[in-house]
Amino acid sequence: MINIPKGTKDVLPDESYKWHYIENCIREVTKSFGVHEIRTPVFEHTELFLRGVGDTTDIVNKEMYTFNDKGGRSITLKPEGTASVARSFIENGLSNTAMPLKMYYVSPIFRYERPQAGRLREHHQFGVEFYGAKGADTDAEVILLAYTLLTKLGLSVSLNINSMGCEKCRKSYNEALRAFLKDRAEGLCETCNVRMEKNPLRTLDCKNPSCKETLKDAPVITDYLCDDCKAHFERLKGLLDLSGLEYTVNPHIVRGLDYYTKTVFEFVTTDLGAQGTVCGGGRYDNLITQLGGGQVAGVGFGMGIERVLMLMENKGIVIPKNDEPRLFIATMGEEAYKKAFYIVNKLRALGVAAEIDHMERGIKAQFKYADKIKAQYVATIGESELASGVVNLKKMDDGTVESIEIDSLIEKFA
Ligand SMILES: [Zn+2]
Ligand SMILES: [Zn+2]
Repeated sequence: MINIPKGTKDVLPDESYKWHYIENCIREVTKSFGVHEIRTPVFEHTELFLRGVGDTTDIVNKEMYTFNDKGGRSITLKPEGTASVARSFIENGLSNTAMPLKMYYVSPIFRYERPQAGRLREHHQFGVEFYGAKGADTDAEVILLAYTLLTKLGLSVSLNINSMGCEKCRKSYNEALRAFLKDRAEGLCETCNVRMEKNPLRTLDCKNPSCKETLKDAPVITDYLCDDCKAHFERLKGLLDLSGLEYTVNPHIVRGLDYYTKTVFEFVTTDLGAQGTVCGGGRYDNLITQLGGGQVAGVGFGMGIERVLMLMENKGIVIPKNDEPRLFIATMGEEAYKKAFYIVNKLRALGVAAEIDHMERGIKAQFKYADKIKAQYVATIGESELASGVVNLKKMDDGTVESIEIDSLIEKFA
């Protein structure tokens, strides 16, 4: 008996309709925001993530599925979605298309996480990437897209925003933060003592309680923003005010990735009994340059689909199923079966979900089965029905029965 790898999950036939529902909502909302789907491979050259995600992040240092293929190339399974989209954008010369280019993806994401943390090693992510527009209006649009989707799915969320500044203002902030940390090095974990030199911003989202306590009074980046970054942040806040979406400015949101500039944001669930981030993202104006492309601004977010589904289920949101057959034809005898087989095939060709027995069940068991698969109607064909050309058609939810000519069954359901 071979088991599923740790940290992965099957989506079974009786639960896939929930995925379809969420994916359909994604397609509806992205359509109304004029966003098109991009599909990139499940694996990329490892170099892409070293340069794109940043080699001081936990993702790159600890969590990537990296291996050499038979040709000796270092390959990595996508640990996040943005770098692949950026790579594709550069490689396909998409900066020559109409800007901004608004894209979304739904993709498996692979991270070697500790299984006891309840996290999956393969999960699925919906992400949005807008390229080519520098203004805070695009940030607002991306945030509102995420909010529209989460609301449509029935979740209650609150929005936290922050600005990470640009390299100019981050330089002075890093200095201030480093000076603050140096005086308190004994209160920091080992990793943060290393981060302090290399990338002090990383200490801000350390989960270690002692680090958290030490960093409570750390200088906040919004006090160090340059005029340009400040104006950008103010415009974002103004547009969010205009949209009516409430938000909190939270200086401790730095997101786990090195490529963010200016706006970063998180949606946090406010539903009873749940906690944590549902969706996070931000602006990355240097990513394309970092990966060898031109100066192209970008903003986007990622949202874990398993997490969204779990929150919906915890909240008791009923996801419509809509995959029951319209008609089941129960049969007795080979001639009746042939007639039913013919009708079912015709109906399916017309796009009507119709079903027939495949297990050589008796008539009673066929009705039981039809009930189990929630067929809306059951028609019964036996020798006498073949002779008279008339069948009984039972509506399963209220039990009413009508007589109908066999030859008009197709017409009735088509
Ligand atoms: Zn700045
Ligand atoms: Zn720490």
